[in-house]
Amino acid sequence: MLKHLSSSCFQGRLRILHTRFPDGAANCGLAKRHLLRFIGSLRSSTGEATFFRQTALFSSESGEGDGGTDKAVYASSEADADEAKSSSAIVPTTPRPEDHLTVIAVPLPHRPLFPGFYMPVSIKDSKLLSALAENCKRSVTYAGAFLFKDEPGTDPSLVTGTEIGKNIYDFKGGQELFDRLHDIGTLAQISSIQGNEVYLLGHRRLRKTEMVDEEPLTVKVDHLKEIPYNKDDDVIKATYFEVISTLRDVLKISSVWREYAKTYSRYIGDFTYGRLADFGAALSMANKLLCQQVLEELDVHKRLKLTLELIKKEIEINKIQESIAKAIEEKISGEQRRYLLNEQLKAIKKELGLETDDKTALSSKFRERIDPKKDRFPAHVLQVIEEELAKLQLLEASSSEFNVTRNYLDWLTALPWGDYSDENFNVHNAQKILDEDHYGLSDVKERILEFIAVGNLRGTSHGKIICLSGPPGVGKTSIGRSIARALNRKFYRFSVGGLADVAEIKGHRRTYIGAMPGKIVQCLKSVGTANPLVLIDEIDKLGRGHAGDPASALLELLDPEQNMNFLDHYLDVPIDLSKVLFVCTANVIDTIPNPLLDRMEVIAIAGYIADEKMHIARDYLEKSTREACGIKPEQVEVTDAALLELIENYCREAGVRNLQKHIEKIYRKIALLLVRKAISNEPSNAKTFEELERAEIDPSTNQSTRVGEQTDTG
Ligand code: ADP
Repeated sequence: MLKHLSSSCFQGRLRILHTRFPDGAANCGLAKRHLLRFIGSLRSSTGEATFFRQTALFSSESGEGDGGTDKAVYASSEADADEAKSSSAIVPTTPRPEDHLTVIAVPLPHRPLFPGFYMPVSIKDSKLLSALAENCKRSVTYAGAFLFKDEPGTDPSLVTGTEIGKNIYDFKGGQELFDRLHDIGTLAQISSIQGNEVYLLGHRRLRKTEMVDEEPLTVKVDHLKEIPYNKDDDVIKATYFEVISTLRDVLKISSVWREYAKTYSRYIGDFTYGRLADFGAALSMANKLLCQQVLEELDVHKRLKLTLELIKKEIEINKIQESIAKAIEEKISGEQRRYLLNEQLKAIKKELGLETDDKTALSSKFRERIDPKKDRFPAHVLQVIEEELAKLQLLEASSSEFNVTRNYLDWLTALPWGDYSDENFNVHNAQKILDEDHYGLSDVKERILEFIAVGNLRGTSHGKIICLSGPPGVGKTSIGRSIARALNRKFYRFSVGGLADVAEIKGHRRTYIGAMPGKIVQCLKSVGTANPLVLIDEIDKLGRGHAGDPASALLELLDPEQNMNFLDHYLDVPIDLSKVLFVCTANVIDTIPNPLLDRMEVIAIAGYIADEKMHIARDYLEKSTREACGIKPEQVEVTDAALLELIENYCREAGVRNLQKHIEKIYRKIALLLVRKAISNEPSNAKTFEELERAEIDPSTNQSTRVGEQTDTG
């Protein structure tokens, strides 16, 4: 891609040259014919290789080796001899180039101008521009092009062209500008002037000697010639061929060079040794000082060596450029591949309905949750949800923040905002249910019925805290479940025994990793209604927190005055818990924190006497156990005497849990006997129930009964 870019920019530049140069050349009377067979060979099917092997093409020097009548410093006899045979891009004009011993100096900001090369220069000095135009009119189409020196001490590789450009325009002429121009420059033919753009064609090397005029700067010049050399010298030849082969390599790998070569070889003249060196240096991207070095070098062998260095460097740069381009192309194509595969994956997931992680799918999932009941959502919650949904769209799906926001939205949208189960305020129905589940407990039942009656009259029920206290196994938990059934509320139970972490009740802040809301929010999500019955077990065994007091947090949760706006740390939006009915259980009320106890309505369940236990065993426990064991009523008969013996001698605690365990044990044994009997199909050798009981309670035959007793008393 980089390659493509650079070549396209370059081609843009070339287009300008192509379109302007021929006209300019026509204006100033330049030759229109192509002087070099080089182009033909470049365009021929054999390409550059053919061209470079035709050594006859590089036989003479056209511009600099033309001897002449002027003050030539060096003259090559060999070059002079070859001059007649050579062809040149420069058409001799009147006066001849070599006749120009005083020229207007044109400062070049970026690069020196090489003979045979063409360069547009933007001139801002109006005096200089009008003087050049005036000269052109008088058929003096030559000027001296000299490279502008950088500020002493500046590194040319670090200074950009524009900065130098600004500098150069500050000089209007005079000695200062004279000193800031390199001594050696190029005699340049002005091919055209368009606006303040002057198009120059390099002709031959010059050295400025003295200033003649200040504005515009006009200088006296010497025309330079190459130091004579032996064309057949092996070392020079070898260097020359090395330059050719290196050039061939560059042309092969760089399309930019190919285009350059095609364009400039038209105007360069024959490829003599010196010209080839100029050609290589001019096409290279080397910095201006290195190019100036080549321009200043009159020893052809040295010039060839300098050029060779520049082109070799060019090859290296080209290789690096290619590797960069390749790496970027690979990266881009890799990314495109990933993108395509991802899109395909999304489409497949969508088809299969598995689209879970996609942002839009997530948003629509959340919207599906809230849209049907938007009117029931509190305004402040809706606002937060909308904000979070907007945030979700902006976040990167792989970021941790995204996951936090997604989980948060999941919780926010999953809560039963404004969803209430239809409460049953029918007192008769409630009484029936309560009696169905529990024997006795008239105080508790009475209180529940009162609660229902108030709800019936008001049409709505307000959350209350009922605390059932009593020894283990007296039915505190099961009555809670029964109340929920009677009221047609969802039931949720959690124990706070030993709870010391406030976060269990109020949740963690979202900033923590793995943060979760508190128990009550979890409860609301799991039951799906905003008015469940929440049974808080073991409230008398609440732990003491090291950071924060769980009792205070619980108070905030339970207190009907406060819990209308309960604030969970995770959710960070107030929730209305006033419709929740809280039932707490405790073994003793002394250890319940006072502020909590104050707000509770304590109903004590003292325990059952033997008679009550008989009823509970006969009407509830036996029935439920028999059903649980899959035994039909006609298959077994439990006598009152047996039950009484069990209660009086083996289940003397206040509650009935131990009694329930014993009954379950007896029924399990009966179930085994029944199954054995059915399998063997033998005449019944089953023991009577009394025999069974005796076996159960005989300490020598059954140790586990005692174990059961001991564990239950706690
Ligand atoms: P607690 O919570 O007080 O420790 P549970 O509620 O767990 O006691 O009760 C233990 C068992 O005793 C339960 O199966 C329950 O059904 C039963 N039970 C307790 N009291 C009664 C009662 N009055 N009528 C019927 N069953 C009862």
